[in-house]
Order: sequence, then C-alpha cells, then structure tokens
Amino acid sequence: MPKLTIKDVNLAGKRVFVRVDYNVPLKEQDGQMVITDTTRITSTLDTLKHLLDQGAQLILAAHLGRPKGKVVPEMSLRPVAAKLQELLGRPVLFAEDCIGEPVDRAVAQMKAGDVLLLENVRFHPEEEKNDPAFAEALAKHAEAYVNDAFGSAHRAHASTAGVPQIVAARGGQCVAGLLMEKELKFLGEELENPARPFVVILGGAKVSDKIQVIKALLQKADALLIGGAMAYTFKLAQGQPVGVSLVEPDFTDRATEALQTAADRGVKLLLPTDDIAAKRVDTGQKDKKGRPVYAYENPRVAKGDIRDDEAGLDIGPETAETYAGVIAGAKTIVWNGPMGLFEDERFAKGTLRVAQAVAEATQKNGALSIIGGGDSVTAVNKAGLSDQITWISTGGGASLEFLEGRVLPGVAALMDKN
Ligand code: AMP
Repeated sequence: MPKLTIKDVNLAGKRVFVRVDYNVPLKEQDGQMVITDTTRITSTLDTLKHLLDQGAQLILAAHLGRPKGKVVPEMSLRPVAAKLQELLGRPVLFAEDCIGEPVDRAVAQMKAGDVLLLENVRFHPEEEKNDPAFAEALAKHAEAYVNDAFGSAHRAHASTAGVPQIVAARGGQCVAGLLMEKELKFLGEELENPARPFVVILGGAKVSDKIQVIKALLQKADALLIGGAMAYTFKLAQGQPVGVSLVEPDFTDRATEALQTAADRGVKLLLPTDDIAAKRVDTGQKDKKGRPVYAYENPRVAKGDIRDDEAGLDIGPETAETYAGVIAGAKTIVWNGPMGLFEDERFAKGTLRVAQAVAEATQKNGALSIIGGGDSVTAVNKAGLSDQITWISTGGGASLEFLEGRVLPGVAALMDKN
C-alpha cells in the first residue's frame, strides 16, 4: 500500500519531527571533523524546503556512526548543522542533546520556517532499544512526523518506530519525505509488475547476507547473475574447485536449493564460467576486526581450475561478456553487490563491465535500472556512471530487506494512502 507523503498533507504552522539520514563520512582535519561527502545532506533539501515553504518548523533527528549509546565527540552532528545551514541558505539551530533541556530551550525560540538539528540520537542507548520513555522524550515537541531516512527504516528504533507511533496516537500525521517516497516507488511499486526481461545481478561477499533476497527474487526475475565471493559458495555446492576463495561451507545447501528453485521455475541462474584467480599470501597482519590481511599474487584467468592456494577474486572476461549480453536485453535491472574484490583494480574489471552494461541498457534501451546501496554504488560512482542509472538507493541493508519483501518498521509506521 503506498504511503502518504509530505505532498499529501498540509503541515503549515506545525512543529514537524523529521528523521533524516545524515550519517555522512567525516575526517579529522586540524583537530576538526570535516564532512567529506555531502550527498546525504543535499538529498534531503527538497523535503526540507517543501516543508519550510509550507510554514512548518522543523526538528531534525539523525544518527551518525556507531557510538554505541555513548557520547563520542567525533560523531557529533554539529558539523552537519553548519553544512546544512550553508546548503539550505537559512539559519539552522543545533541542540547539544536530542532530548531534555537543550531541546526545550531551542524549541522555545523557534518560529515558522526555523530549523533545529538535534544531536546524534545514538548517543543514547535507548534509541536502538526503542525505549518507550526515550521515544516520549524525543517526541515531546512533535506535532507531525516525517521519515526521509530510508537507510534506517529497517530498524525499529525510537526515532524510526517509537516516535511516529506516539505522534500518531496524539492524532498527528506521519508521512514519508520525498526521498523516502522515491525509494518506495523504485524498490517497491516499480518492481511489483516489472517490465520483462527482469534481470537481477547479485554479488558481494556473502551468500548468507543475500540468500533471502535470492529466494524472493527467484519468484519474480527472469535471470539471476551471480558474482563476487558469493559465487564460490555456489561452485563449492556444485563440487567445483574453489581453492581458498571466500566461501561459506554452511550455506552450500541453501545454494543448492536456490539452483533447484531456479531450474523448477525456469529462471536463468548464471554462475561465472571463468574467474580471475590469484595466489593468496598471508601478510601476517590483521585488520581492524582482527581478521588476517592477505596479499594476492600472479592473477590469471581460471576456467574451472582454481588451484588449492588460489582464491577467485573477480568474474573472468568470458563471464563479464556473457553477463553484459544478458543485461543488454533487460527491461528491468536490479543490482546489488560487486562482482569481485573491486577495491583492488586488478579485480575490478568484472564489476566495471557490469556497471557499464547496466548504464548502457538504461540509456539505449530505456531499461529501468535500480542499484541497491553499498559497494555497487561505490563502483558505479567510481566508473562515473551514476547519472546513467535510473535509481541509486540510499539504503544498503534497508534496500536488501525491502527487496526480500519484508515490512520495514520505519515504513510501516507511516500512514497509508487512503
Ligand atoms: P557485500 O557487503 O556483501 O556487498 O560485499 C562487498 C565486499 O565483498 C567488497 O568489499 C568486495 O571487495 C568483497 N568481495 C567481492 N567479491 C569478492 C571475492 N571474490 N573475494 C573476496 N572479497 C570479495
């Protein structure tokens, strides 16, 4: 059921609590935190301007990073308030906490057309627990609620689920912002009856993260193209050599099931017929999460003969061309996850070829292309092709859960159209 949006209601004169996604990348420069990419801020401007033009007062809430319920000064939203003020071209107040006296004081000064940004809601552990008393405190001044943070909508947190429930119980309207509206349109309505062929491209590290979306899309898609490390769990299930590729042996049964479902339904499920394999060498170092860091040597094209000391790190040239051919014939395309370890340019060719094919199908054949968050977005940006894609989702985990057909708590909390 489509959700009401800010275009369907009149919030003039109301104090509106707006949940936005200001989880921007920051880096320290001369002792100050500087925003390195403002996309997430600029993407909310249409929603904010629409509400301000109506004469609403805005209380903006967001999270930044993972402070785990504690005040972490480097994860303060203060730099975002300054940047928003600059981009919006009007004063933006900042409250040093998201609840309590600092908010009461700021709200007391506000009039129509004013904007207040609250401090990081995740500085309180109660946010992620959706604690009712905390949600009450957050909702204290809210007469209406807008959610424009699709990337957080899969979480039942206080600012995404608790607050709208309280506002609705008070008779306030709870609606989607313009960015949320587009996410729901492209990931939801547009895929209900997709133009065919409907081609899904899935890559990335783990089958375990994507098995649900594979299951859901096998019911709808005409073809499923598998790449990334995930492909090797499928190959392992088929008894093919995978060497020391990143695999999940516990998920081979699920992979076999997916292959069977595809065969039963007549869905083309393609796995790489060749790979870029390289010798894996342990550097003796550990990454931030304590996992071993590997170096890769002597990359080569493997065709069903990945050696015991090699890992598969990208789809091979033959596979890239096959996948590009399938994509060229598509009318609807959904892509989530890179085809290989694309951060290393020796293993980025497959991902770039796919990005190019998706852009071409969109531009030349009028295909509807949707890229679901995370690394595939980074890859498309790197290839300079982002303006040639129909819709690039702002939500990684949220877009996957939505495609799985799950109800997102932050979306369920908004009012239905009629
Ligand atoms: P995900 O978050 O599941 O979409 O995974 C993205 C990550 O998977 C990226 O950092 C890729 O570099 C990594 N990745 C993709 N393919 C491979 C592969 N064949 N071997 C190792 N890592 C890979």
